[in-house]
Amino acid sequence: MSRDNKTMDRREFVKLAALTAGAAGFACRIPFAEARQQSQEPGSPVYLALNMSKVANNEESFRLMRKVGPKVCITTATHPGFVGFQANIQTGILPLAGRYGGGKVHMEKELNPIRNYQYTMWKHWRDHDDFHEKQFNRTFELCSKCLSMVIEGPWEPIYRIVKAKMPPVRSMGQITDLGADMQQKKEFIRFATPARCVAMAEHTVKPGKEKAFEQGAIDTLEALSDSTGFLGYMVLKQIGVCALGSFMLDPKSMAEALQTLGANPPKSPKPLFKTPEAMPSPPEYLIHTEWDAPEMAQLGFAKVLANHGIRKIHDDGIMAHLIRGPYIMFFQPMMEEPSWRAMLS
Ligand code: FE
Repeated sequence: MSRDNKTMDRREFVKLAALTAGAAGFACRIPFAEARQQSQEPGSPVYLALNMSKVANNEESFRLMRKVGPKVCITTATHPGFVGFQANIQTGILPLAGRYGGGKVHMEKELNPIRNYQYTMWKHWRDHDDFHEKQFNRTFELCSKCLSMVIEGPWEPIYRIVKAKMPPVRSMGQITDLGADMQQKKEFIRFATPARCVAMAEHTVKPGKEKAFEQGAIDTLEALSDSTGFLGYMVLKQIGVCALGSFMLDPKSMAEALQTLGANPPKSPKPLFKTPEAMPSPPEYLIHTEWDAPEMAQLGFAKVLANHGIRKIHDDGIMAHLIRGPYIMFFQPMMEEPSWRAMLS
């Protein structure tokens, strides 16, 4: 093996394989259709798996989350390619000038079910697939302990990062690090605390308008980045869904899974589909922003309606290309390992 081959990491290999489409698909045993699908998607510094569920909002659910959550985190973190996680629980929605006027910024007690959106970050999405395969028995047992609180889900889409500006999470004790950032003249300096607010905005985009939407989203977020309380953003494009993470097993295993409380996992579970096969059409984007508090987020988002300049950027760059959206939900991170942020340029 040449020196070049030795130093090429798996992500670069997959990227190269995708670029050379069919031929490479043959060489590394990726089916042609999958290789062609990947070839249309650029690489990503980090891939995000978003495990989505709606759970009963009661004391017992939160007791279970605290009991089982750390064990799931430790199991996940043990797998190669894992670079961090962020477990978010919904706190409310943006009423958007009354369009969703039945909702409020703070609905921690009222929302039932409540969204439980767990991010895990990976060097490559295949590392995440591999984790669900290799650690199936352990995650099956742990997840089975929580099924009593699940009302909808799990459903686990995979995203690539189109563009991100995510500062490190810091406490007041690290104020000197902030000084160091300023000394190094870093482009985007913010003080993100564990108590911050996460806003997630879903968008379905017209096919063929992906590039225009991506640029429009970046322009809008850059325009919003001076808003009071704005702490950072990620534009995420969905590139598939992980079948095992969504509990979509082959039919035989699915029936076996329903015959136990977790002690007897299915004997040879197979994912019902491959991750890129579930890439949505029309395309789905998720815009992740972070703010000092949801009240600040509400003020900031209002600029797309109440500030002439930002409204034009948002109308022409985002609204003109939509099939569905925006719908903005607020979350709070419950647990996290934020070192993946340093991997984003
Ligand atoms: Fe997962």
